[in-house]
Amino acid sequence: MTTVCRIEMRELALPLKTPFVTSAGTMDVRRTILLRITDSDGHTGWAECVALEHADYVPETLASAWQTLEADLAGRLLGAGWEHPREVWPLLCDAGQENAMAIAGLEMAAWELAARAQNRSLADMLGAGRTRVPAGIALGVQDDPARAVERVRDCLARGYQRVKIKIMPGRDLEIIRAVRDALGGNAPLSVDANGAYSLSDTAPLEALDDMNLLMMEQPLANAELEAYADLQSRLRTPLCLDESVGSLEDLDRMIALDAARVLNLKPGRVGGFSVSLAMLERCARYGIGVWCGGMLESGVGRAHNVALSARDEFTMPGDLSPSERYWVQDIVSPEWQMNASGEIAVPRDRPGMGCLPEMALIDRVTVRSRVLQ
Ligand code: MG
Repeated sequence: MTTVCRIEMRELALPLKTPFVTSAGTMDVRRTILLRITDSDGHTGWAECVALEHADYVPETLASAWQTLEADLAGRLLGAGWEHPREVWPLLCDAGQENAMAIAGLEMAAWELAARAQNRSLADMLGAGRTRVPAGIALGVQDDPARAVERVRDCLARGYQRVKIKIMPGRDLEIIRAVRDALGGNAPLSVDANGAYSLSDTAPLEALDDMNLLMMEQPLANAELEAYADLQSRLRTPLCLDESVGSLEDLDRMIALDAARVLNLKPGRVGGFSVSLAMLERCARYGIGVWCGGMLESGVGRAHNVALSARDEFTMPGDLSPSERYWVQDIVSPEWQMNASGEIAVPRDRPGMGCLPEMALIDRVTVRSRVLQ
């Protein structure tokens, strides 16, 4: 029986190497919540709550997640015992879907703790057998076609197995066409609009349908799944949903409606590993493409994504960039590295997430902290 007796929360301010631009705005510093839980035997578990500062991606924010962790979720976990970490999500899920990122932070820390306590890798704990996982990369919104071509070319030369370009109205067709023309019809490209297009003007999306994209991610603003089903019926390119699928119920509806044919699964966004494992089972059963998305995580969140990505159900490279893509220095050791074939090695021979938090660096970037026990 595992009983958590201490929860440490830290808000970190991590300067990005280069600003990241999406249809919602520009980020230069990634503020994130790092969690460390300790059980009564002294085992620890680390995880990252991936909430963002602003509510334009999903309504849950770093501020609301911090408040929920501190005022609600910590109390549910402290003192509650469990035999297996899959029992943790049911302890926390009453906090509601709107707090799924906060829930995921503690839930994933529980899995990491369990892996360390059993001297197993987190991947092994998750039933994930791959030894290497393929990496894709997400590029922010591009405003210059020639520069976009150079950036995509550079990513492919480094080995990335898929390049996703963020798009928005006016920064879409011209950019993608330039990349296609320069790099050929088969370069593994996808786009992500983060909901920047309206259902009343899908002409740019229909034009992109001729670009042989692997998928179009989350194109529509404030759209119900029925609207996605309507759009999917008019496109050959598979749609991929990210923010629109927050729960297993959403995924079941997506599949039933044929609203999209690919899922961008982010364990830190959907409530953690238990929900993610259930989603992977559904994807495999119904032939839905699935890959692991990124949330500009530090090396701790990256570790959890890499471990889950070692599951066989994943059909496409995840957004699993190595540490040097985002950070001058990552907060874990060793840092995450990608080989020349665009693969990240799964640290199966080390307990837990397979890397160690660099406490001196973490102390320097901590802007607030709280210990609950
Ligand atoms: Mg996305």
